[in-house]
Order: sequence, then C-alpha cells, then structure tokens
Amino acid sequence: MQITGEMLIGGASVRGAEGTMFAFDPARGTALELPFGASSADDVDRACRLAHAAFDAFRAAPFETRARFLETIAENILALGDALIERAHQESALPVARLEGERGRTVGQLRLFASHIRDGRWLAATIDSAQPERKPLPRADLRLQKIPVGPVAVFGASNFPLAFSVAGGDTASAFAAGCPVIVKAHPAHLGTSELVGRAIQQAVRACGLPEGTFSLVIGAGNAIGEALVAHPAIKAVGFTGSRGGGLALMDIAAKRREPIPVYAEMSSINPFFVLPGALAKRGAEIARGFVDSLTLGVGQFCTNPGLVVVLDGPDTQVFVDAAAQALGQKGAQTMLTAGIAAAYANGIAERAAGANVCALARGADTDAKSAACPALFATTQQAFVSDPQLEDEIFGPTSLIVICRNVDEMIALAEHVGGQLTATLHVEADDVALARRLLPTLERKAGRILANGYPTGVEVSHAMVHGGPFPATSDPRMTSVGAMAIERFLRPVCYQDLPAELLPPALQDDNPLDLWRVRDGRLGHG
Ligand code: NAP
Repeated sequence: MQITGEMLIGGASVRGAEGTMFAFDPARGTALELPFGASSADDVDRACRLAHAAFDAFRAAPFETRARFLETIAENILALGDALIERAHQESALPVARLEGERGRTVGQLRLFASHIRDGRWLAATIDSAQPERKPLPRADLRLQKIPVGPVAVFGASNFPLAFSVAGGDTASAFAAGCPVIVKAHPAHLGTSELVGRAIQQAVRACGLPEGTFSLVIGAGNAIGEALVAHPAIKAVGFTGSRGGGLALMDIAAKRREPIPVYAEMSSINPFFVLPGALAKRGAEIARGFVDSLTLGVGQFCTNPGLVVVLDGPDTQVFVDAAAQALGQKGAQTMLTAGIAAAYANGIAERAAGANVCALARGADTDAKSAACPALFATTQQAFVSDPQLEDEIFGPTSLIVICRNVDEMIALAEHVGGQLTATLHVEADDVALARRLLPTLERKAGRILANGYPTGVEVSHAMVHGGPFPATSDPRMTSVGAMAIERFLRPVCYQDLPAELLPPALQDDNPLDLWRVRDGRLGHG
C-alpha cells in the first residue's frame, strides 16, 4: 500500500489544501520526502457530518458484524507487513523489534474487543419486572441497556505510533461500543497513520459499514484538533499526550454549548517504593531492574518509574550505588521527536540546577540526533514535599530517588503526590505491616498497584486498569487500556413500559441474543 499524503474522509482519499506538512526522521534530523496536505476546518466538518450520519446504522449493525469489523482491521494491519514497521521505525526511531511487538499488541487489542462485543456483558442488560399489584403504587416494567455515546474524536499518542494511535485502544474501544471515530493523526507519524487509516477504511468497506464510520484528519498546529473537539457531532474525546494538550482540549469541550467528556491520559511519575526488607534482601537486583525499566524505550512510557522512594538505613547506599552504576552504563538514544528531546534536555538541566537535588549519574552521551542521555537524581523527603517542581513529569529516561528518614515521612510522601497511573511496592515478608499502612493511600492515588515488579509493560486484558486520578488522567473512574475502556463510550438508557415490539433485542423477554442479564436482581440467562 502506498502512502500518498492524503487524509481519509469517510470512503474518500482527499489531498488537504490547508498547507503542506512533512513527516520527520528524528534519527537523521531530516524531513521525509512525501508532502502531506493539511486538513481545513471544512474537512473536519465533512468528516464529522459523515460520522453523525453513520452513527445510527453503525450502532444498529449486528454485534457479529462489529466484531468482524475489528478482526478485519487487525488482518489488514498485519497484511501491511514490513512496510508498516519500516515506516513507523523511520518516523519514531523506535527499534524494529519494539514496533513488531507493538503491532502484535495492537492486533491483540482489536481481537480482545471483538470477543468482548460477542460476549455482550458490556450491555449491562438489566430487567426489573413490572409489579402491577404493588401497594401503595404499582411498579412499571423497567429495562436498562448501554448504548454508544456517538462519534468519538481520537488523538493518537506520539510514543505508541501503533497501539495508542490510529487503530489503538481508544479507536478499538470506541468502535466496539458502536461509535464512529475520527482520528487526528499525530504529526510525528503521519505516514504510519495513513497506512493504518487505510487499513481501517478498507475494513469499513469490506464489512459493508457506512463510510462515515471512520475518518482520519491531519493538521499542523492546534486548529484542527480544536475544531474537532468543538464540533457538535462529536460526543466524546480520547487523548494521550501532554498535560497542557489534555487540559486545553478539556477546556474546549467544557465550553461547548453541549459539553462533552474528554478522556485524557496525561502525566504520571509512577512512584516506586522499595521497603526496608526488600532493600536488604534484593537492593542491588531491584536497582538494576528499575534502571532497565526506566531506560526502556528511551524512557518514553507513561508508566516510567520517575520517582523512587526508599528509607534511609544500612542498605540504602547499596541500592543507590547499584542504580547509579547501572544507569551509567546506559547510552543516550534518539527520542521520538526533536521537540520531545528538547523538552527532556530542559527538564534535566532544570533538575540538575535544583538547590536540594544531587545528580547521581548520567548515561554515556552520543552524537545521535535528538538523543536523550539517561540521568538519575536524589533528594530528601523534606525537599521533595516542599518543591512542587520535583513532582513534574520529565518525559524520558530520568528518575528521582527520594530518601525518607522514617516511615512517617514515607507515608506522608505517598499522601503528598498527585494521581498516578501506577504505584509499585517492593516487599518482603517483614515489610507487610508497612505495606498495609501504605496501601490505603496508594489505592486513592493510583490506577494500578504492583508488587515486586516494574511498571512499564501494560497488559491488554480484562482486569487491566491504565488510568488514575488527575493529573494521570482526566477521569479516575476510567481506563484507556483493557476491556473496561469501552465504558468511556457507552451510556445507560432505561426503557419504561415499552411494548414488546419496541424493545431492543438485548431486553426482549425471550433473550434472543442469549445474553447474561440481571433480571429482578439475579444474574442469569433469563
Ligand atoms: P502533545 O503535545 O500533547 O500532542 C498530542 C496530540 O494532541 C497531538 O496530535 C497534538 O497535535 C494535539 N494537541 C496538543 N495540544 C493541543 C491543543 N492545545 N489543541 C489541539 N490539539 C492539541 O503530546 P506529544 O506530542 O505526544 O508529546 C509531548 C509531551 O507529551 C511529551 O514531552 C510528554 O511530556 C507528554 N506525553 C505524555 C504521554 C503519556 O502517556 N502520559 C505520552 C506521550 C507524551 P498538534 O501537535 O498538531 O497540535
């Protein structure tokens, strides 16, 4: 499949006339040859109108058609073969093996949602039978199911050009719910976006779905994204990126005539607690594992362990030395974009200049373009809680070790930090009492709590939560990874006393879809 530099509006390929954009090779520091035509506000309007027109037909399609649609997208992505991986590698500087793994994850995610649609429990079909004899008042026949919210705007993330982008988790879960999707391509991977967009466009056609089920717009600067979020046809937004970007889109969504939810995944420093028993028994080993997790993918993971918390004691220095030594052996590597590399360099320089921060180690520098050199810092608990800047995420391979003088300081630090995607505890048997004291706080702070592991690497499964209180995300009740991500794009409707012939299939008496339902408070197939 050829990259043409066109956007995809429904079934059409359209060359944008609102200026020219180029994809960029961050490893060489050069623009890639093919020009992309940027979308205009009119293009966004056309895509949104088509999505609105497609909505009722798309959501009415049999669940089997919707599941096959997701599976067809997965097949089409695989059929793109090496060309997709090569292009993503060129545009992101991410290693080929990592991108192949990410493609597997993307395809697996689409298939997970296909099986989730067929399962049908997401409908939450619930029936409260009428009680005409009830005194003093009779009860009506009440039946509830969930329906899709409407067209969804998706902003692809820079750091996962496949799994969090055009056919990533936001798109897969929105399609699964029955929502048409309009993706705003991330400017850092325009060619990858077009290839995957065409795979979706072909699947729409092959499955006989309305053309407005999917569109892909591209734009330089904020105007296209702003127009998309402001468009009245859009009913929800999925976003992964910077806190500033997420907040700007939330602001636009809140000021609309009809405000809509923005599910933004933004920033997290993922505190990593090493409790004293674990420090004594496995300190050096944990330190090496932590540095591997920190520097994986040039630290460009939202679950990167950016904050390590330890108690001062006889084993602390062993851990700190082992971490510093392991980090010193890591080399600088090219980041996703020149802008992200510059933001990292600034962040590191500011942190190094901080009055109460000690620079522990730096990785080996290189001449590579847009490269980030790993860096490790340390500070005290008192300094950390009194300097809000030390809590800011620096996107890249850097972390801050905070040393607490006692258990109370450690618990106070856990209480002090903002919302997180993850919190990690390294524990041994003699740490259980302290872990029990920390857990209630960590539950309030984080979407996922891990023991004796490393936070990078997010499984796509039924029980996964990739979310958390602000600033990790804009809505702590939700997740952007895993089967529960579909909930963001559904809403409940109750049907009261509807004649049988008007009831949706999921709520008809004879249960024609053979769903698990709650009838009069009991779960079953009735
Ligand atoms: P970003 O700058 O927030 O951009 C993400 C997407 O949102 C892009 O398509 C961007 O388009 C759009 N956008 C951003 N601000 C907007 C606004 N005000 N109005 C309309 N559209 C807007 O994120 P990024 O490019 O992926 O990376 C930059 C920084 O984000 C990183 O340095 C890192 O701090 C953070 N980040 C966090 C995560 C995470 O998982 N938490 C992941 C990746 C990045 P335009 O550029 O065309 O406006």
